[in-house]
Amino acid sequence: MITKGFDIAGLKGGHVSLTSVQLEDLASRVAGPLLQAGDEGWDDAVLIWNAMAASVPALVVQPTSTHDVAAAVGFAREHGLLLSIKGGGHNIAGTSIAEGGLTLDMSRLRDVTVDRDARLAHVGPGCLLQDVDRATQEHGLATVLGFVSETGVAGLTLGGGFGYLTRRFGWAVDNLEEVEIVTADGEIRTANRGENADLFWALRGGGGNFGVVTRFTFRLHEIGPTIYGGLIAWPFERADEILQAYRTITTEAPRELTVFLILLNGPPAPFVPQEWHGKRLCAMSVCYSGDLDHADEALAPIRALGGPVVNLLQAQPYTQQQSYLDGTEPKGNNYYWKTEMAASLSDDLLSVWRDLFAECPMPEGQLVFAHVGGAVNEHDADDGAVGNRDVQFIYGAAGAWEPNDPDADTFRQWVRDAWKRFRPFSTGGNYVNFQLAEDDADRTADAYGKNYERLQRVKAAYDPDNLFRVNRNIRPAG
Ligand SMILES: Cc1cc2nc3c(=O)[nH]c(=O)nc-3n(C[C@H](O)[C@H](O)[C@H](O)COP(=O)(O)OP(=O)(O)OC[C@H]3O[C@@H](n4cnc5c(N)ncnc54)[C@H](O)[C@@H]3O)c2cc1C
Repeated sequence: MITKGFDIAGLKGGHVSLTSVQLEDLASRVAGPLLQAGDEGWDDAVLIWNAMAASVPALVVQPTSTHDVAAAVGFAREHGLLLSIKGGGHNIAGTSIAEGGLTLDMSRLRDVTVDRDARLAHVGPGCLLQDVDRATQEHGLATVLGFVSETGVAGLTLGGGFGYLTRRFGWAVDNLEEVEIVTADGEIRTANRGENADLFWALRGGGGNFGVVTRFTFRLHEIGPTIYGGLIAWPFERADEILQAYRTITTEAPRELTVFLILLNGPPAPFVPQEWHGKRLCAMSVCYSGDLDHADEALAPIRALGGPVVNLLQAQPYTQQQSYLDGTEPKGNNYYWKTEMAASLSDDLLSVWRDLFAECPMPEGQLVFAHVGGAVNEHDADDGAVGNRDVQFIYGAAGAWEPNDPDADTFRQWVRDAWKRFRPFSTGGNYVNFQLAEDDADRTADAYGKNYERLQRVKAAYDPDNLFRVNRNIRPAG
């Protein structure tokens, strides 16, 4: 309950003083709660995944309906308030929180409705990936989502979205059929390929720049409920052989087989033999989502490598596959990532990969290749704003350490130096959802390539004053 007026960050810098009467006006317009620091639920409302990117808003609204969202957007616009939208809070740059401003925390809108006959899922904007996977798997269906189940559907999808099903069905946005959205003028609009088609095009990759999405409708595919997958790992001493094999496996793999390669130190988990805790490993995270009768054949080249020190490959529920890496990415650590996109894995890149990890000073440092080539390459470059239709691999270095770790500067520098060495192998594109705030500001245009100018025009049409600016921002044309 907010009883006193206070200062709140303004859209164009500085502060706006809100009186208690104005706050009462906001409270009367929305059914969901208004929160300030100290209120019950505040800590969860402002908690984000990357502690290093944390900031604090002055006020949080937790909408319980599209009407609430429209009212809050209208209030922010009328008073010129800095506004942000929080889905799952997993954005690495922490863009869900408006520092000193107003944050819309969508966590009370987590409903999923599956239309089995139409093969569609209608998804609330506060859903985490696990909400959608669980609901759709009850019908043996799934859509393209990422591989850590606590990630938000909204941010992942609006930035493009990829996961174990991307090779078969494209970016998450290639499976998006429709959205309901509140735009900067407070209007509630439907956007799809026929209605507000320019807006729909921009939302398919353009992030939170165009309004607050209040419902996503995804196309579903028959998947599982049992798939074949999990983790398999070998000693890092075999890095040359494993990296070469990874290239061959991913070149020949059927679309139903997705393999990510992860160079990491063995985590102190029960499934890793104790003698490998903290030791360098070459791991593959594997998902075979096709007919289980063909799983052995598909996985044969991986098994043929022999001698794994960890082997968790098994038939398992798809929902387990989608969440088994959750524990490796706990909320509240410091995270620092640098990623690129590659069209192929050259010998030089594989050597750089081996050398970089051999030098990695960080217990929780990782180097990752995520194989995404397949369906994404079959769309025109301008089919949706997401672009990057030439990509085969999303690859990069991920640093993680606990807040206050005395070696933080060394760890961050390793990621930065690694980036310098692997950046030359990039297509020139990048994944907007993996950008950091501090040193990726100039990379947003690169992420969209030739689609960027069109994005700026759509931005100018729907958000000319850049109300939605706490994001990987697209400046309105003109
Ligand atoms: C551990 C981890 C694993 C990941 N794995 C994958 C993966 O497998 N595949 C993949 O593609 N990405 C992955 N990502 C990246 C992820 O897609 C982005 O971090 C994404 O921004 C997270 O979405 P969110 O809703 O949780 O984020 P939030 O931080 O809540 O939101 C991010 C931004 O999305 C926008 N936004 C959120 N909700 C709305 C809305 N309702 N309307 C309009 N805009 C909105 C806002 O601009 C906001 O700033 C991963 C990230 C992490 C941290």
